[in-house]
Order: sequence, then structure tokens, then C-alpha cells
Amino acid sequence: MRRFLLPVFCLLAAGGVQAAPVQADMARVDRLAAAVEPRVIAWRRQIHQNPELGNREVLTAQLVAGHLRSLGLEVRTGVAHTGVVAVLRGGGPGPVVALRADMDALPVTEQSGLPYASRVRTTWMGQEVGVAHVCGHDGHTAILMGVAEVLTAMQDSLPGTVKFIFQPAEEGPPPGEEGGAALMIREGVLRDPAPAAIFGLHLNSRTPLGKAGVRAGPFMASGDTMKILVRGAQTHAALPWLGVDPIVLAAQIVMGIQTIQSRQVNVLDEPSVITIATINGGNRANIIPDTVEMSGMIRALDEGMRKDIQRRVVSTSEAIARSAGGSAEVAIEANYDVTRNDGRLAELGARSLRQSLGEANVFVNPKVTVSEDFSAYQKHIPGLFFFLGVVPDGTPPETVFPNHSPRFWMDERVLAIGVRALSHLALDYLQDGHLP
Ligand SMILES: [Zn+2]
Ligand SMILES: [Zn+2]
Repeated sequence: MRRFLLPVFCLLAAGGVQAAPVQADMARVDRLAAAVEPRVIAWRRQIHQNPELGNREVLTAQLVAGHLRSLGLEVRTGVAHTGVVAVLRGGGPGPVVALRADMDALPVTEQSGLPYASRVRTTWMGQEVGVAHVCGHDGHTAILMGVAEVLTAMQDSLPGTVKFIFQPAEEGPPPGEEGGAALMIREGVLRDPAPAAIFGLHLNSRTPLGKAGVRAGPFMASGDTMKILVRGAQTHAALPWLGVDPIVLAAQIVMGIQTIQSRQVNVLDEPSVITIATINGGNRANIIPDTVEMSGMIRALDEGMRKDIQRRVVSTSEAIARSAGGSAEVAIEANYDVTRNDGRLAELGARSLRQSLGEANVFVNPKVTVSEDFSAYQKHIPGLFFFLGVVPDGTPPETVFPNHSPRFWMDERVLAIGVRALSHLALDYLQDGHLP
């Protein structure tokens, strides 16, 4: 239906300006992607060796902006601290599509053993730590730099505009700072020109090399962090009846809030996770302390269920603490929304990826309980976020490490695959994906 409409649309709306034939474009994208591959690998290694934490992506942004300017694009820097945004206006009329890459690294000491492994160290939360690209954002950035080169070479035949968004601080800004997708949006990244859709990818070591995982609807979980302060009344450890024991209350709360998922929300609706990750209280074996502090997180795949779980964590914690004469203060910080892929874009994306990567290389990705701030863009415009695999089939499982592991690695062949995939997606969207 959409392909049938294309020539009519072009003639009516574009005053006879015809998009280049789809097949020819496909072959051209693949040729251009192959040509830029060695430089994409070199960029990725340069970024990998010089990783920067969120809101500190100064060298990375310089590299990106320099490349985009060399292509003759309109480039804006310093967006949301270190973000870079570039606009490529095609030769024909059409919609605006945004492509997003994240640029930040993590406070992890790399143990990949690669010749270009990071040796960078910094201070994070008062501790000296290594800095490394163990989430693959170096790959995302290099891929999008490659896509900018491919699509710029096709500028004359582009029916519309492409906006390249290089985003800082996807993993969260440093404490006390703002950053990431939400700040980019506040600083105008979705205006002037306003994209009608946005695409992004994540390299993933749980997905085989060359394969893309696409899912319509809820895909990645919301992420909230919580702090629970349990107040009791300090007393001698041998005389608990003279005080209120916050340690026992904290233990009851840990178990009590686990019944929210299993007993209080409909398990058939969506999965969710509640985790208490830290417990701190007391300093002597013979003293029951005044307070216990706990922290953890909530993950959900439905915004309504997320709010419901938040309320229940508060009421369950407060009620348990009250039951023994104590109290609980619960503070929940909403960090990431549910990454919810637009149904039509997921359909277009799967079709486009089957063409660019091969029929057998696109699968329906299961929902995941990790989070992504790409979700912030999807609150404003339809978006598609998908996974691209980095580990070749047949790799011994003991040598495959998850994202965020100090041993995370990628087969760099994924970089050219990513350039092809994203370039085709942008082109397919501009050519006919935006039509009703
Ligand atoms: Zn990550
Ligand atoms: Zn990531």
C-alpha cells in the first residue's frame, strides 16, 4: 500500500521531483557503507581509547563535530552540555527523521585485553576508577558518524531531512547535574527542524552478530531508583522491647515489597522487578540502631503498572514500619521511562532491516528489564529502538560478556552492519515510511 502510494505522492507533493529508485539506493548505501568502514573502525577505536563519562564527552564531541562539519552539515554543539546535533537537508521535499547515538562511557576498569583498551582513570563519587566503553556507545557514535557520511553522499536524492543527534549522558548525568535525552529535548533538539520520527540502536552481546532484534510496543523497562529510610528507636541489643528495631523492620520490608509483584499486581499484564540492592544500619553487635537505610530499584514495562508499584512500595514500607512503632520514608526517583516502540515504525523497521541485513537476520526481541533514555524522545515523537548483535555465532559462552561487564567486547564487523542498517532505515522512512 505504501509503496503503491509513493509515485503519486512524489508527483503531487514534490512537484515531479522523483526519489531515486529504491533498488539503486540500496546498492549505493551498501557501497558507501563498505567504503567508510575502515574509518568507522578507526573512529570507534579512537573513542574507545579515550572514553569520557556522561556530561564530560569533550573529546568525543570534538571528533564528532569535526567530522560533521567536514561533511558540510549544519552543526550545533554544546547541546545538553556536550551534545552535538547536525542537520542534513536533502535535495527533495519530505519529512524530517532523527537518528540518535549516545556517547558516554562508564566508570569501569576495562579488562578486555584489547590492544586499544582504555587506560583512562578518573574520580567518580569520590573514588578513583577506570573509565571504559563497556556499553558499546563508542560503536553507536562511530556508526552514526558513518551514517552521516553515507547519507551526505546521497544528499541530492534524499527526499527530506535527516537530523543526527549525538547525545551525552545516556547512563545518567553525574550526581547533582542534569543531562541526557531529557535535557537535549529541553534544549530544543526536537525543534527547528522538528523530526517526525526517531531511530536508535543498541549494540548487544546477547544478540548474535549481524542479527537485529526488533519489538513493537513496550521493549525496555522503566527505571526508578528508591531509597527507604527505616526509623526505629535505638536500644541495647539485649533489650529490644525498650526500643523499636529498624533492622527487623527493614528485613520485613525487603520481603514485604517482594509480594507486590507476586501477590498484588496482575502477573499476566507485564513483568516487573523490585530489587533492594543495599542495606546499611548499625555499627555494633550489641546495639540496635536508630535507623536503617536501604536503596534499590523498580523496573516495569507499563507506565500504569510502574506508578501502581511505586505507590505500593511506599504504602507497604510505611505500613510495615508503623506496625511495630517505627516509620519509613520512601523516596523514589524516576530515571527512565518505558522504551515503547511505535507499532508502525517497528513494522517499517523490521521490513527495512530484513532488506538490509537479510531475511533471516531480524527477529522479535523479547522484552528486557534494562532501561534506555531513548524513551524520553518517544514521549514526544514516535520512535524505534532496536538491538544489534556483536558476538559471532559459535563463540564459546564463557567468552561472551554482558554490556557493562569490564570484559564486554564487540566484533567490529558490526560497525559496517550498523551503518547499513541505520542508513537504510532513514532512507526507507524518508521514501515511504512516513506515509499514512
Ligand atoms: Zn549501558
Ligand atoms: Zn547503553
